[in-house]
Amino acid sequence: MASDLRTYCVTGAASGLGKAVGTQLESLGSRVIGVDQHSVAATADLSSPLGRSNAVASVLDECDGVLAGLVPCAGLGPQHASAQIIAVNYFGAVAMLDGLSSALTAGSAVVLICSNSTTLTPGADGELAKACLNGDEAAALEIATDTHPAVAYAASKVALAKKMRTRVAELGAVGIRINAVAPGPFKSPLLQEGLDDPLTKDLISSLPIPLGRFGEPEEIAQVIIWLLSDHARYVHGSTLFVDGGIDALLAPTRFP
Ligand code: NAD
Repeated sequence: MASDLRTYCVTGAASGLGKAVGTQLESLGSRVIGVDQHSVAATADLSSPLGRSNAVASVLDECDGVLAGLVPCAGLGPQHASAQIIAVNYFGAVAMLDGLSSALTAGSAVVLICSNSTTLTPGADGELAKACLNGDEAAALEIATDTHPAVAYAASKVALAKKMRTRVAELGAVGIRINAVAPGPFKSPLLQEGLDDPLTKDLISSLPIPLGRFGEPEEIAQVIIWLLSDHARYVHGSTLFVDGGIDALLAPTRFP
């Protein structure tokens, strides 16, 4: 792929997938403004409205108001409290999207990070996802307190995938593309937390994966880099499963 000198914002850039995306963008000659709680240029806590607005302000300042792309990758897995998961995974990502929209111009692209847990988790597409999509954080956090973290995690990702679809008209009209990837399990500290948890380790270890292994963060990152690039210039409004075939294996007759 050709080198470019454009500036991208990647949240969750200190670890796992965000780090892999940042590394690959930098290897193409791009500049990356990383946002995370530690080890990056823009440190911020995306679980709180204040942390999110500080993050947006730092990024706008660092990029001089112009971004070639945004990958809000910061996330918490089901080993965390449900309300915290919703606050970071959904409201943290959407705040970055909304707050940085003014810096995105024609030709730029956004990739949201969902999960194949969206289709694997019963109850994911319920009241909690609806409250998220309504933008009612107080209501969503209240519902989350009575929701199992695995369901809250999947709900945060269902809501993000749907949010992405609600933005295609407005963003497409000004030449900005938005898509999502829905990874299956890939090696990272987040997955390791699940493998270390006696309640979830057997479930995760026994997931049927047609390709026979967990993914590597670099393999998910390559798809994101492609979605950000001009090679994907007619891809807009899609959620791309990158899960070694799990979703198709478990729901072979569902379309899409
Ligand atoms: P990771 O734990 O390696 O990285 C997540 C990053 O998010 C960390 O650097 C962490 O510090 C940051 N973060 C967490 N809370 C934050 C907060 N309040 N403010 C700012 N930053 C915060 O995890 P990962 O596996 O690389 O996950 C990246 C994304 O991929 C997440 O959105 C996750 O839900 C998604 N995902 C992961 C898997 C998997 O199997 N690893 C599967 C599907 C989807």
